[in-house]
Amino acid sequence: MSRIAYVNGQYVPFREAHVHIEDRGYQLGDGVYEVCEIRNGSLVDERRHLQRLERSLSELRMTLPLAPSALRFVMEETVRRNRVRDGLIYLQVTRGVARRDHGFPEQAIKPALVVTVRALDRSKIEANAGAGIAVITVPDDRWDRVDIKTIGLLPNVLARQKAKDAGAKDAWFVDAEGFVTEGAASNAWIVTHDGVLVTRPSSNRILTGITMTVAKEIALRLQMKVEERAFSVQEVLAASEAFLTSATQTVMPVISIDRRKIGSGKPGPVAKRLREEFHRVAEIGRKIV
Ligand code: PMP
Repeated sequence: MSRIAYVNGQYVPFREAHVHIEDRGYQLGDGVYEVCEIRNGSLVDERRHLQRLERSLSELRMTLPLAPSALRFVMEETVRRNRVRDGLIYLQVTRGVARRDHGFPEQAIKPALVVTVRALDRSKIEANAGAGIAVITVPDDRWDRVDIKTIGLLPNVLARQKAKDAGAKDAWFVDAEGFVTEGAASNAWIVTHDGVLVTRPSSNRILTGITMTVAKEIALRLQMKVEERAFSVQEVLAASEAFLTSATQTVMPVISIDRRKIGSGKPGPVAKRLREEFHRVAEIGRKIV
């Protein structure tokens, strides 16, 4: 089954999919992206991901190159053409192609849109969830607007690699005050010994995860108490459990931080419950494949 990418109005074989060398995304990181889960042939939480995409775009004074309904069609068509039932869809919008200059191009240019789809090995993710994952901490050296989902991910790239080198699955950023901000590609949570779920409130210091938003909804439905506040690494070590949320991993138990055990050192019941409930509460789109 050959992969197909959508690039600026055309569906092309993956190996022939290219963008121009003066695309501002390529040269300046001038663009935004989204990642949505595909599960059992449907998109998960597409509406909220597209809402966040529009917000990211407007923060960079950009607009969608297509009407939202046309974009939804392209997303579905890309999934259909790749016949991926379980995986993820990636979409990226950059400001477009122009002679290299930091300021916006004088003449309006058309934003560039790329959509790709990839199958995910769900059994691997389930195995990680069953065992729980290790995270490390890294200083949060990112800019002040990480609430915008830009393609400028160098600190996240270096943090993830550091985690990988240390045999861990993710890195949690820690701010100058010693509080966890979020994961390199996820939001961070703890559960206190009183059973209170703690996660950082939305601000310019984190990306407000769609999965995080859904997880809060689930917790409230299950009458769990959620506190939105920053927590320190000390609090993680004293917590009864920890977990992270992201579209690709949904709710993933975290069992150690910097090689130190969290709680029992095994996935906790709260993370397990939220994980089980996740797809009952998330918005599941129509069947595509
Ligand atoms: N924070 C960062 C830095 C991320 O890259 C991601 C993953 N996109 C998240 C949080 C989680 O967001 P979501 O639940 O929407 O995938």
